[in-house]
Amino acid sequence: MRHLFGIPIYLLAWTFLFYTVVSANEKKPEEDLMDERMSLYVQFESPQVPWFHLAAVDQYERNIQQVRNDLPKSEGSIAIQFPADYWVGPLNPDRTDTSIESIAFFNGYGLDGNGDRLADATHPEDILHTMATFLGEHDSFESALMAYYDKEETVNQIVTIAKLYEQFKTIALDEHAFPIPVQHHYSYRSTWGASRGWGGRRIHEGTDLFAGYGTPIQSTSYGVIEIMGWNEFGGWRVGIRDNHNSYHYFAHLSSFNKDLKEGDVVAPRTIIGYVGSSGYGKEGTSGRFPPHLHYGIYKYNGRTEWAFDPYPALRSWEREDRLNHRK
Ligand SMILES: [Zn+2]
Repeated sequence: MRHLFGIPIYLLAWTFLFYTVVSANEKKPEEDLMDERMSLYVQFESPQVPWFHLAAVDQYERNIQQVRNDLPKSEGSIAIQFPADYWVGPLNPDRTDTSIESIAFFNGYGLDGNGDRLADATHPEDILHTMATFLGEHDSFESALMAYYDKEETVNQIVTIAKLYEQFKTIALDEHAFPIPVQHHYSYRSTWGASRGWGGRRIHEGTDLFAGYGTPIQSTSYGVIEIMGWNEFGGWRVGIRDNHNSYHYFAHLSSFNKDLKEGDVVAPRTIIGYVGSSGYGKEGTSGRFPPHLHYGIYKYNGRTEWAFDPYPALRSWEREDRLNHRK
């Protein structure tokens, strides 16, 4: 009998302990991780290489690992993964070499950043010291990125992230907003891949949000305005690139926020323009379809940019904005 009674109490105690420990640890794990990353970036910055350059490269690598099956996902706090050839040297027979002497002998670039006399491609300090050294050896951030990635779109994406980190002085830029302030009237439904739409592509790559002329349109994320102008199909449209390798496309506007221009930085809820029905013709064409905002999201994976259905994200941002609006 003692045995039978003992078990539930024992389990109860463990369950209690388990939940206490887990809930304490899960308070703000994402914030803890961001703090840890931020202190690492600052530790390895230099007059030539500011922390936000290191942080932007790291975030870019994290972004592509989330959407690419051919890339292993980094398990540590830092996502940057150097190719083995680069780290240990192309002719080094030991592909996981950590000896600073033999790595140097085989012309590898891996360095020791934490003073343990090892250059370990999985140690955050060693990774950041090696990347900071590489970036510091070039005349500019852009030329260093071009030398490393050899792709203009990648350089643009990383420079965009760096600009956002520099401007907001933080890497915590995950907030989003619904593209229309929720106190306004609007309607939308899932129309992904519908063959007829006003998006200007063969299949409809986005979501149409119907609202009256002049309804304000706000940025859904932190980002840099990459495009602001006329396009035959999209009419007056705005393209914003964010720190998660996403490009947000807003089309058919009646007008823009006149205080903004290409290259400017925006935050969630920055008004970028107003709902209209522009497009499907030469510059200024309007009124060929009901007024609505066409909203699309494109993701860059380091090779190509592809459209994905924004509807689930819109539903979640709308829910959050409605909750906050009631407060
Ligand atoms: Zn559309």
